[in-house]
Amino acid sequence: MLMPVFSLLLWTALAAGLGWWLSGAFVAAASALAAASLCFGAMVWKLQRLERWLAGPDLNSDVAWRGLWLEIAQRIQRLIKQRDKQVAVHEQRLQHFLQAIQASPNGVTLLDDQGRIEWFNDTAAAHLGLDIRRDRLQHVVHLVRDPVFAKYFAQTQHDAEVVIEGRSQSVAHSVKLSVQLHAYGEGRQLLLTRDITSIALADAMRRDFVANVSHEIRTPLTVLSGFVETLQSIPLPEDERQRYLDLMAVQASRMQSLVADLLTLSQLEGSLPPGMNEKISVQEMMTQVASDAQALSAMLSGQDSDQRRCVHELLFEPAPAWVLLGVRSELLSAISNLVSNAVRYTPAGGTIRVAWTRDAEQVILSVNDTGPGIAPEHLPRLSERFYRVDRSRSRETGGTGLGLAITKHVAQRHGGELRIESHVGQGSTFMLVLPVSRLEPQAG
Ligand code: ADP
Repeated sequence: MLMPVFSLLLWTALAAGLGWWLSGAFVAAASALAAASLCFGAMVWKLQRLERWLAGPDLNSDVAWRGLWLEIAQRIQRLIKQRDKQVAVHEQRLQHFLQAIQASPNGVTLLDDQGRIEWFNDTAAAHLGLDIRRDRLQHVVHLVRDPVFAKYFAQTQHDAEVVIEGRSQSVAHSVKLSVQLHAYGEGRQLLLTRDITSIALADAMRRDFVANVSHEIRTPLTVLSGFVETLQSIPLPEDERQRYLDLMAVQASRMQSLVADLLTLSQLEGSLPPGMNEKISVQEMMTQVASDAQALSAMLSGQDSDQRRCVHELLFEPAPAWVLLGVRSELLSAISNLVSNAVRYTPAGGTIRVAWTRDAEQVILSVNDTGPGIAPEHLPRLSERFYRVDRSRSRETGGTGLGLAITKHVAQRHGGELRIESHVGQGSTFMLVLPVSRLEPQAG
């Protein structure tokens, strides 16, 4: 800053000296004034140039100045470069933040101090049905129209989350969202949304399951306690007493089967997937299944115990000499369930055919019966717990409603599946399908 002042003084002094030397004091004063004005004018002109350059589009271009003005311009350029660098760093950081928020499995919506939507990630867009071009700066309550949310938004405290209906792709499939507002900045709010549909579904299933189990246990328990009361209060003839005790034994064994199946299910759910270490002889396992099936068929015949005979045609095709790799108790229980169902649901005189087959990818145990068959609307639900098509037949024959749920679970744990083919009036075929990797290689 000293240079322009110094040059102004120098030029003024020179002009004054020259004026004095040429014509005396008056001319000296006039020359000094003229020189000072010229210098000042030059400074103003350079300042205006600087101002124009500063307002111009390209501050990084080379500048054709000298001296102090060049220094000022270069300093400004250095500051601008520094600022640009900082802006780029901040910009990049902001992009990383936004990418991180985009990657969040939860919906994030930023609201301004008026409750208007400023920004949201893709998950929030899907949860709440928002569109960035259409909905930016719209009030959130106008877009999230659930009354529960409107009430929640109006509260001053938002310590807990609330559950609202989310936007779903289909009418049949409802989406449950957990939403919570968090205050930040000056009056701004963060709206977090979480899809809890599967948690809500699991919760509902758990409640249904408990209700079903209670119902299943209450029925035989009521019958049992009724008989106990009768036996305690009324003296009965011996044969009547014996009949009551037999009926009580049936109910007790029903409860036992139910508890056993429940335990099996919970073990299946709580244990690791089956390894490949246990070797199971298919022939040995099928010998046991066949003899159990014959005993069950004879028991269901209704004949007196001393003359019981198998009342179905049980055709067990010769079991192949295969060795399966898995958990014997689980596979035995799955196969027994399919065979015992065939026996229990096929009327006397019907035929049950059991066979093992395999191809390059699968090993299949199929159990075919000439029973009543199952209508197509029931097929997808058959392996749900406690789902029964024929409730009374299931009860009469000691069914728990859990057999196919167990079988499906076992199949899936062994990497396979349960397949069902059935037509009303034409019988059913239940197939336990296992991957061929479950077959010991040299035996296959
Ligand atoms: P349950 O103990 O009642 O037999 P399951 O889970 O084993 O329970 O079977 C579910 C339902 O599927 C049964 O209640 C029955 O209605 C139907 N079902 C199963 N196997 C057969 C079959 N072979 N033929 C006809 N219906 C069957």
